[in-house]
Amino acid sequence: MSGFRIGRIAGIELHVHPTWFIILLLVIWVLAGVALPADFPELASPLRLAMAVAISLVFFMSLLVHELAHSLVALARGIPVHRITFFLFGGMAQTSRDSRTAGEEFQIAVAGPVASVALAALFVALWWYGLTRGWSPAVVGITGYVGALNLVLAVFNLLPGFPMDGGRILRAGIWAATGNVTSATRWAARVGSCVALLLVGYGIWRGLTGQLVAGVWLVLIGLFIRNAARSSYRQHLISRTYDVPRASAGRRQQPVLVGVAGGSGAGKSTVVRRVAESLPATGVAVISQDSYYRDLSHLPAPARADVNYDHPDALETGLLVQHLEALRAGRPAHVPVYDFYHHVRRSEAVRVEPAPVVIVDGILVLAHEGVRSLLDLKVFVDTPDQERLGRRMRRDVNRRGRSRDSILSQYETTVRPMHQAFVEPSRAHADIVLPRGGHDPAGIQQVVDRVREILERRRGHET
Ligand SMILES: [Zn+2]
Repeated sequence: MSGFRIGRIAGIELHVHPTWFIILLLVIWVLAGVALPADFPELASPLRLAMAVAISLVFFMSLLVHELAHSLVALARGIPVHRITFFLFGGMAQTSRDSRTAGEEFQIAVAGPVASVALAALFVALWWYGLTRGWSPAVVGITGYVGALNLVLAVFNLLPGFPMDGGRILRAGIWAATGNVTSATRWAARVGSCVALLLVGYGIWRGLTGQLVAGVWLVLIGLFIRNAARSSYRQHLISRTYDVPRASAGRRQQPVLVGVAGGSGAGKSTVVRRVAESLPATGVAVISQDSYYRDLSHLPAPARADVNYDHPDALETGLLVQHLEALRAGRPAHVPVYDFYHHVRRSEAVRVEPAPVVIVDGILVLAHEGVRSLLDLKVFVDTPDQERLGRRMRRDVNRRGRSRDSILSQYETTVRPMHQAFVEPSRAHADIVLPRGGHDPAGIQQVVDRVREILERRRGHET
């Protein structure tokens, strides 16, 4: 969703999507046709129409202030903001990566509602001042309405459904309490789905009790939030970008490419997360080989279950090689988003920026000659069979919604034999083998030290 560009503030592109005009006309229509005639029966209808247009435009500016508040806090925290888009359901600031800490997430999320409450207070104060000073009823009416709408905007955004502001605050809270950003995102997205369903239910009730426009509107917003909650959680799982530095043209250093391989459930993600967290100042982008599973939308659903997902042919590794080459050359990569439940590639892609360190993890990362030849450092995470099966079981049941039986039979018929045929032998190519999975601080430190060495060496060559 991009729409057309209307301007630029603080380096952020402002875009308007065509669907935004629908909501603009709807708001003007409801104000001029229903709300203002009830509140100001004494005013002429052309004047009420002018008031409706003025309220809508000032409210649109307020929405812009709300999104700018999110964006400026993100920018102050070093998170680049691509653009702010206005569309059918309001505004949306698009950042190029997620927050690094719960505190950062909280500050960015709370900034928008704080700005809206401040605007509400300002306009209510103006309304009160206008009333006491005998301003014209039309002007007083505009300030009163804009104040009330800003308050509604703040309250609505504070509903605890991810990815709305309230849901992001909830996520930050769970994240701070548990230290686990993935489970925090999962819970916030679940609450988001529940809030969305409540909105749909409330909308149906309003519609049935005679308020058709409000009802239809609430149902649409509910469906939108439900969809957003699901896809933002998936996106969180698939691409975790820890930090992406600002593109500094001219003096760009070639990224250090690190491959982390190992059997399914070996603890690769833990290793990747710990390595990334140990390089806070560097900027680390992470790509998962799992994102490169082939799209199987041409097969009927039952046939998709029979595909051997642990064979190298299930992955489009040529595309991964292209993306790694692009990142090495300083260009961003548009990594596909894979739907593990339906075994199809989703229509959107995640843009990964060429960070100084790029980590690619996946079971077969070291099994492919083309990938290996691009890697500066090859790591293999080794973990006993039994332990890997247990982890894989928990992950697939929880995250990918599959049954225990199907996971177990898949393990026996394909995972284990494929592991022995392709994953195990690729260990021979590793520079560093971590024999105790993700729970190996000394081994992880060794990986971090090697990455730092390579970074230093490259910087040395440049100067
Ligand atoms: Zn917001």
